[in-house]
Amino acid sequence: MEILHTPWRRKYVVGARETRGCLFCDLLANPGSDAERLILHRGTRAFLLLNLFPYTPGHVMAIPYRHVASTLDLQPDEFEELLILCGLSERLLRDAYGCQSVHIGSNLGEAAGAGVPGHLHFHIVEWPEQPLFEACKNDEVAPEAVTETYERLSKRLPKMLEKMGDLA
Ligand SMILES: [Zn+2]
Repeated sequence: MEILHTPWRRKYVVGARETRGCLFCDLLANPGSDAERLILHRGTRAFLLLNLFPYTPGHVMAIPYRHVASTLDLQPDEFEELLILCGLSERLLRDAYGCQSVHIGSNLGEAAGAGVPGHLHFHIVEWPEQPLFEACKNDEVAPEAVTETYERLSKRLPKMLEKMGDLA
């Protein structure tokens, strides 16, 4: 079995285990601008956040404001908005990175690899055309600075929201 090494994520994984509260709830409660907190977009029931420790450049997360652990706990309108935000993120990533493949998924529970197991979140990630471990080996998915990613995606946001029309 090939092992995918993403050493830049270690601080996040270890940090999340040591956090007593909830990373997302704390982030929302903390003062500071959305740009400082890497909040890309705020919807009515859910928001988009950039992952500070991305799998690949342009790693977006769609998160409900409510602290719920599973899709089983979502109200229909929250579920609907999360899916719309996943769609918005896919558009952003395709436009910003010209990628052909995008992964949308959620790790439910610690055994599934959830860094913040108590607060549901969907990952929307650009997926390289070649197998990911090959790309890592060849240093082709070295993460860009998240502030660069934030700028790249946020400037595209109005256009993408317009394209989604009534949906967003
Ligand atoms: Zn929370």
